[in-house]
Amino acid sequence: MDKTAHDPAAIKLTLDEVKSLALSILRQAGLSDAQAGPVAQTITDCEADGRASHGLQRLPGCVMTIKSPHFVASAEPQITSPAPAVVRADAGFGYSLLAFERALPILEQKAKSCGVAVLAINNCFHFSALWPEVERLSKRGLVSLAMTPSHAWVAPFGGTTPVLGTNPLAFGWPRVKADPFVFDFATSAMARSDIAMAKLAGKTLPDGCGVDAAGQPSNDPAAVLAGAMSTFGGHKGTALSTMIELLAGPLIGDMTSRASMDFDGGVQAAPCHGELIIALDPALLGGQDLDANSRRAEQLFAGFTDQGARLPSQQRYARRAQTRKDGITISAALHDRITALLP
Ligand code: NDP
Repeated sequence: MDKTAHDPAAIKLTLDEVKSLALSILRQAGLSDAQAGPVAQTITDCEADGRASHGLQRLPGCVMTIKSPHFVASAEPQITSPAPAVVRADAGFGYSLLAFERALPILEQKAKSCGVAVLAINNCFHFSALWPEVERLSKRGLVSLAMTPSHAWVAPFGGTTPVLGTNPLAFGWPRVKADPFVFDFATSAMARSDIAMAKLAGKTLPDGCGVDAAGQPSNDPAAVLAGAMSTFGGHKGTALSTMIELLAGPLIGDMTSRASMDFDGGVQAAPCHGELIIALDPALLGGQDLDANSRRAEQLFAGFTDQGARLPSQQRYARRAQTRKDGITISAALHDRITALLP
């Protein structure tokens, strides 16, 4: 790692250094090697793709979660197959990521034999972005959806009391000659980490991000964090977020965002709940002419790019190509904050 010449307050890291720093901190906090590997990998992947909100800056929160009362640092996921198209991964109150890793080959095999398969991850602590998961399924030739609740920070459209999570939804579509079509977003109008960053930077929020503790619309990030966030898209975003609560909560026998927050008991660890991943096999569902299906999808994408619109994830892929060559740069303040977690 170097101090960069143009900005002495910035630290340059290779992606290997990012991963090994993350691994050292997670292991030092007591996380098992098996759990630490996928967590360090997703943090590195987020840094590689310029998604710093789910990169190294998550490490202090990860360490706090590892040391929190309900977390099981050496949890070994229990994988079961209750039906031909269903795989269940009980994460045992460790992170979601090892459960995903272990269940992935079974999900792939089931989707490719049934046309559709569902992975229900239960009892997992969850802090991560979902795009790395749907992207991995896309690279195995599968279309996929992933969703998870979080903590009850978001009020429904027409209300002012938080009952919903920021509830991310991700979708992946494999492409033959291009990176997969992937989107992944929170169903809140703004991600909670972005509101927290606006607060730190002394910025105001755009209209529609949330209400203060008295239920009045507010542009003040501190007031919205203390009050309630809003879903994007009015009643439509609220309906989508509610669907995620139901599908990745009660449907798979797990907690809603409200129940997860109660379970946390004010500790402020990462949310603990379930995650639902649905995988679909275009080879089995697509009929006789798979090439024609693929051409139709490509025509749809070309309809965007030909007029100068970009596809979701294009920015990430472009950034990835750059960081593979150049590594990443983080502020000295962030570097100090995370290296302080080492002995
Ligand atoms: P963003 O609004 O940053 O991005 C959402 C998606 O839209 C991305 O796929 C992005 O692609 C795409 N996009 C953005 N701008 C454009 C554009 N102009 N044209 C086309 N596509 C565009 O996401 P959020 O802030 O809502 O969420 C950030 C992350 O937070 C997600 O990864 C999510 O999984 C995670 N999260 C995790 C939670 C958890 O509990 N585990 C809870 C809530 C969120 P691109 O990347 O190329 O910009």
